[in-house]
Amino acid sequence: MAYIILNRSNFYHNLSQIALKTGSLDKIAIVLKDNAYGHGTILMARLASEFGISKAVVRNYQEALVIEQYFDDIIILGGEIHPKPNLSYAINSIETLKTAPTDTRIELKIDTGMHRNGIGAAQLPEALSLIEKHGHRLTGLMTHFRSADELGSELFWQQKEFEKTKMIVRRAGFKDIRIHSCNSAALLRSHNFKEDIVRAGIAAYGIYQFPKGFDAVDLKPVLSLHARRVSSRNLGKGAKVGYGGDFTAPSDMRISTYDLGYGDGWRRGSSAKPYTTPDGASFLGRVSMDFVALEGDKEEICIMNDARIAAEHFGTISYETTTALSAEIPRTVI
Ligand SMILES: *Cc1c(COP(=O)(O)O)cnc(C)c1O
Repeated sequence: MAYIILNRSNFYHNLSQIALKTGSLDKIAIVLKDNAYGHGTILMARLASEFGISKAVVRNYQEALVIEQYFDDIIILGGEIHPKPNLSYAINSIETLKTAPTDTRIELKIDTGMHRNGIGAAQLPEALSLIEKHGHRLTGLMTHFRSADELGSELFWQQKEFEKTKMIVRRAGFKDIRIHSCNSAALLRSHNFKEDIVRAGIAAYGIYQFPKGFDAVDLKPVLSLHARRVSSRNLGKGAKVGYGGDFTAPSDMRISTYDLGYGDGWRRGSSAKPYTTPDGASFLGRVSMDFVALEGDKEEICIMNDARIAAEHFGTISYETTTALSAEIPRTVI
C-alpha cells in the first residue's frame, strides 16, 4: 500500500510561525478534525502535545475521545453533547441550547455573516437566557469568517458584527469568556492578534494557499505521499496502458505500476491532463482504483510533497486533497 510520511520538524516550524502571530503557544488551538485533515488524528495530536499545544478543535465527541489524553481543553464543533470538564461545545443553533444536557460547557457560535451555523445577534438575548436557565456554563464566544482568505472588507465587516455581540454578552454579566474568531487565514492576515485563541488548521499543516496580495508567511508541508512499485514491464512503441488504453507508448519504454489509486482517496482526475509527481514523472493513462502507472522502475516514488500543487492540478483546495486520503494508508513520523 502507498504510505504517508509526516515531517515533524516542518510541523513544529509551522506551529512556531503561528505562535509568532499569536504571541504564545497557549493561544493555539490545533484543529484536528477529520483525521487531522487527513494527516492522522493520533499522530498529529501526539506531536502537537509534545510541542506544548494544550488545546484542540475536533468535529465531534467521538473524535474528542480519541485525542483526549493529549490535551487539557478540547472544543467540539458539533454532534452529540456529552458534558465533561475538559470539553466545550460550539453551539450552532438555539435548538441545541434547548436540548443540551445541563452542565454543558458552551462556546457560543455567533453567525456574523457566513450564515452556515451559529446564533444571530437578534437571537443572542434568548440564547443567553437559555444558557442561564439550563445551568450551562458559557466558556467562549466564537465566530467564523466566510472570506478571511480574500482581500476586501468583508472580514472587517464580520469583525464589527462580532464586536457588537461581545458587548451584549459582557453587559449581560458573563465573565471569563474566551473570544475566538480566527482560522488560519484570518490569523495570517492580522497584524496585532488580540484574541484568546486561534483555531489553526491548514497553516499548521503547512499547506495554506496564500492569495495574491497577502504577506506570505513561510510554511512547510507536513505530509508527503509515497507509493511502492508493484510490477514493471517493457512496452513496445504503440502499446496502450490501463483502462481504455488512454496512454500510448510513443517509443519503446519501461513502465511500472505503483500501489496507489482512487480507492486510497487520490483523485482519479483526467488522463488527458495527467498529474505529474514532484520528480517530474507523469501518470500514464487512467488512474485505477488501486494502481497508477509511471515510466521507469524505481522501487518507491514520491507522489506528492505539497498538497497545494496537487490541489491546483485537480482544480480543488489543499484541504480536500489531504482530507480525502484514506485513513487506512499507513502513516509514519520522521
Ligand atoms: C475547520 C475550522 C477551522 C480551521 O480552519 P483553517 O482554515 O484550516 O485554519 C477554524 N474554525 C472552524 C469553525 C472550523 O470549522
